[in-house]
Amino acid sequence: PHARPWLAHYEQNVPHDFQPTPHTLPALLQRTAQEYPKHTALTFIGARTSYATLFKQAQQLAAALQKMGVKPGDRVSVMLPNCPQFVISFFGVLSAGAVVVNTSPLYTPHELEHQLNDSGSETLIIMDMFYPRYLEIQGRVPVKRVLVTGIQDALSFPKNKLYPIKARKDGTWVEVKPQGHVLNLMKVIDSQTAYPAAVDIQPQDVALLQYTGGTTGVPKGAMLTHQNLVANAEQSRLWMGDLRVGQETTLAAIPFFHVYGMTVAMNLSVLMAANMVLIPNARDIKMVLSEIQKSKATLFPGVPTLYNAINNHPDTPRYDLSSIRACISGSAPLLLETAHKFKWITKGANLVEGYGLTESSPVTHVNPIFGEQQEGSIGLPLPGVDALIMDDDGQPVPVGERGELWVSGPQVMKGYWQRPDETARVIVDKDGKRWLKTGDIATMDERGFFRIVDRKKDLIIAGGYNIYPREVEEVLMMHPAVLEAAAVGVPDEYRGESVHAVLALKPGQTVTEQEIRDFCRAELSAYKVPRSVEFREELPKTAALKILRRQLADEARERILAQ
Ligand code: AMP
Repeated sequence: PHARPWLAHYEQNVPHDFQPTPHTLPALLQRTAQEYPKHTALTFIGARTSYATLFKQAQQLAAALQKMGVKPGDRVSVMLPNCPQFVISFFGVLSAGAVVVNTSPLYTPHELEHQLNDSGSETLIIMDMFYPRYLEIQGRVPVKRVLVTGIQDALSFPKNKLYPIKARKDGTWVEVKPQGHVLNLMKVIDSQTAYPAAVDIQPQDVALLQYTGGTTGVPKGAMLTHQNLVANAEQSRLWMGDLRVGQETTLAAIPFFHVYGMTVAMNLSVLMAANMVLIPNARDIKMVLSEIQKSKATLFPGVPTLYNAINNHPDTPRYDLSSIRACISGSAPLLLETAHKFKWITKGANLVEGYGLTESSPVTHVNPIFGEQQEGSIGLPLPGVDALIMDDDGQPVPVGERGELWVSGPQVMKGYWQRPDETARVIVDKDGKRWLKTGDIATMDERGFFRIVDRKKDLIIAGGYNIYPREVEEVLMMHPAVLEAAAVGVPDEYRGESVHAVLALKPGQTVTEQEIRDFCRAELSAYKVPRSVEFREELPKTAALKILRRQLADEARERILAQ
């Protein structure tokens, strides 16, 4: 039988046999709005929205969507940054029984076209600044109605009742008059008086299509149900220990359109009746710093690049960040140095590493936040999660050995939207459980702590040796001049592949390729030392601030092949 040593670390308030509440997301919001109507739900550039108002606006939007003909199960694409309209739209669409399709504001018209067609979205909710991208593909997608909104619609000071829509034409911003199938989102909401017609939404219904490259790279929609998402918010909550309902303030800098921000910044806040401080652009570090100080935020979920950017920003010492108590870092490896420095600048915030993926809503593992932490580890499986490390034949490997991480739990997706073959590739039944094959290579120690060694597909194979990029990156990040680092595999005549390093340096620092290689040589076996080093101002990242390792590898590969 499969041993679960991690359960020994569970404390009294963490149940061994977690059962999620059979709730839908709108029911979750309704409960919080009824119990804490006057509590602030959203803070956005000084404008506050209470839970009662958030609930009301979501209901108004649901009623409006129903009138427009949106039916339960219909897909509604939402292309908004973190702003009040995102949260209203999310819960409004779900309250109408429809499915939210999270859409990255960084999408090119081509990517947007693919996603609108693949999801079959007839309704699009979009920020005015992104609207010109829709204009480029209009007519080639099934969209029948567009609800547009601008940042100014959410601000409290002299509310601009004209609700202008800005679009970029020939290099300048011009106003677009909403007409025909283009409507102003907030105007639509404000003009609704009726309640939405009751729809029968079940916890097992699909709530969200979250697009992901998954392990094969083809963008596809992970179908996440209400139950998946409610379960993951509850699991995260249990793990966070002494959170105080109605008293926490969450700094919501990571984007809600990515599943990580949606669960740990938005849904967890709704569950906790917390105040969400909305940051529309997580790259604006000055805004992040000043909003933490102003709001006295207590929770700050993030990603390593964000904590790293704060650690290294010249203005950081001028801000008081000591209100922050707990942070989960997810989505990429958290380097030890980043966690230590962040704890120091916040005077003691607990920053722990967690792990997850889109297909599991996303969180499956986190380090104990107030208990024993294991640095460099993704921690223990959350309540209700079972985890295995498997060899290529689907057999568990001995403790301490490498294999693919499989996870099972109430937050594992229903499948990929209209892609049964892709679903069958990652979801398998074994011993009476549904398992998700993560595509990540991991180990588990005898105490139940897991470590991600790397992604299966990021492995670099040089002269027959396996090199895990993470190990090389850890060393590169130890160099005092290095701000960000990625190690990727590039073609090599003799070795098949060799390691190529891409670096961004801290402001004002210089270092040569030779110095970097000498530095690595002192720490790593020869075959792991980067054969070439490239310097960039900044490393390219996804909207969720994850370093685009594959893009860096492709660019380096092309350059080398062209030589
Ligand atoms: P996504 O589905 O886009 O959220 O990406 C999920 C992937 O991010 C996982 O399969 C991992 O490869 C990676 N990931 C997430 N958290 C961590 C972590 N703490 N350490 C290493 N990799 C991580």
